[in-house]
Amino acid sequence: TLTQTASYTDRHGATHALPDAAGDAQVRADDRAHVFHSWSAQALIDPLPVAAGEGSTFWDYQGNAYLDFSSQLVNLNLGHQHPDLVAAIQQQAGRLATIQPSMASDVRGELARRIAEVAPGDLDKVFFTNGGADANEYAVRMARQVTGRRKVLSMYRSYHGSTATAISLTGDPRRWANEPSDGSVAHFFGPYEYRSAWGSTSPEEETARALAHLEQVIVLEGASTIAAIIIETVVGTNGVLVPPPGYLQGVRELADRYGIVYIADEVMVGFGRIGEWFAVNHFGVTPDLITFAKGVNSGYVPLGGVVISQRIAAHFDTVAFPGGLTYSGHPLACAAGVATFEVFERDGILERVRDLGERVVAPRLAELQEKHPSVGDVRGLGLFWAIELVKDRETREPLVPFNASGAAAAPMAAFAAACKQNGVSPFVHFNRTHVAPPLVITEDELVRGLDVIDEALTVADGYTV
Ligand code: PLP
Repeated sequence: TLTQTASYTDRHGATHALPDAAGDAQVRADDRAHVFHSWSAQALIDPLPVAAGEGSTFWDYQGNAYLDFSSQLVNLNLGHQHPDLVAAIQQQAGRLATIQPSMASDVRGELARRIAEVAPGDLDKVFFTNGGADANEYAVRMARQVTGRRKVLSMYRSYHGSTATAISLTGDPRRWANEPSDGSVAHFFGPYEYRSAWGSTSPEEETARALAHLEQVIVLEGASTIAAIIIETVVGTNGVLVPPPGYLQGVRELADRYGIVYIADEVMVGFGRIGEWFAVNHFGVTPDLITFAKGVNSGYVPLGGVVISQRIAAHFDTVAFPGGLTYSGHPLACAAGVATFEVFERDGILERVRDLGERVVAPRLAELQEKHPSVGDVRGLGLFWAIELVKDRETREPLVPFNASGAAAAPMAAFAAACKQNGVSPFVHFNRTHVAPPLVITEDELVRGLDVIDEALTVADGYTV
C-alpha cells in the first residue's frame, strides 16, 4: 500500500524534503489550465504531479512513492537522477552549453565513436537527431536518396513516432486520425506467435510464413518502388513481440535480394533494454541503418540518431545530404550519452539486465501465467516483457477489445489502479501490461514490483469467464 512521507533519501544517504503537499494543487491548476498534453482528450485527463525521483522510484506531491515499472515510456534506462549523468550535463553546461551542428564537438564525436564501436557490421557513422521520430524520418530520407525509390514497408502493430513520416509508418491506431498520411507506405504482418496471422503452431512455422508473406508484399508492391523496410527489432508498445529465430535474418536476405534498405528501429530496445547495446546484436543481424533515442542518455536531454552503414554513408561523400536540425548532437545530450557508456561499462549494466531477466523476471512471469486465469501469454527478453491478459485462455479472447477506451477498458483500468494503489506505476496498453523498469532496478525492488503485479492480476482474474 502507499505510504506517505515528507522526505526521501537518495542513493548517497542524503535526505531531501519533498515539496509541500499544498503545491500539488498549484501544479495541477497550471497543468490543467495551460499544458496541452499528447495523445489525450484534454478534459478527460488528470496527470499525476511528480515531485522528485531517485533510481527506480518517483514521488508525488503527497509523498507517495511509486516504483517506476515502465521507465517513463521505456526511456529512463539508468533511472532517475543518476549522479554520473547529472554531473556530466552540469560540467558540459559550465563549459560549452551549445554548438551548431556544422562545427565539431568533442562530446558529439566521442559519443558517435562509442556508438560505432558497439554497432554491428560496418555501421560506423552517426547522424544525430532530437528524438526517435525524427531519427526514423531521417533514416527513411536516407534510404530514399540512396535507392532513388520512395515506398517504405512497415509492420502492422508497430510504432515509429508521431511526426509526419513516422506516424505514416506506424501500424497501430495512433495513425488513423492522422490520415491521409504519406501515401508511399505499405503495411505488412510481422510474426506474433500467440496470435499468428497464419495459424502457425511453432516458431519455425511462424518465421517461414511471415517471411513468405513479406516477400509477397514486396513483389505485389513492386520491389523497384520500395526504398526501405523498417522494423522494430523487438516490437515495443504493440506488445513486446520478440521475433522468432531466423525471422530477422530472413528480412535481411529479402532486403538484399530486392535492393531494399533495412532500417532497424531501436528507439525503445537499443541501449541495454534487452541486455545488448543494440538488440540486433542479440539476433545476429546487421541492418543498413539503426535508429535510436531514449536509452542513449535516458532522456535526460533529448537525443536520438541514425547509425549508418559505410555503403549508405559513402553515397553522401560527394552528394550533399539534404537535411539537418539546429540541435543535432546537442552537447548537453551527448555529454549524458558519453556518461551513459561509462556507467554501462563500469557497472556491467548489460550483464545485469540479462541476469535479472533470465533469473528473476522470466521464471516469475511463467509462474504468474500458471496461477492467473487472466494471463494468456508472457514474453520478453532482458528487462522488456509483456503480460497479455485474456478473458478466456481457451479462445484467447483479449481481456479488453483491441483499441478499447472508456468503459470498454475498465478491466485494464482496474488492474492499473490496483498496481498504483500498491505503489507500482505500470505501463498498460490495450490488453497488456509491460514490465520495463529502469535497468538499475535493485533485485529487491524488482521482486516487490512483481509481487504487486501478482496481486493486481487477481483483480484482472475477476473479469475472466
Ligand atoms: N520508435 C519506437 C520503437 C518508439 O517506441 C518510439 C517512442 O516510443 C518512437 C520511435 C518515437 O520516439 P520519440 O517519441 O522520441 O519521437
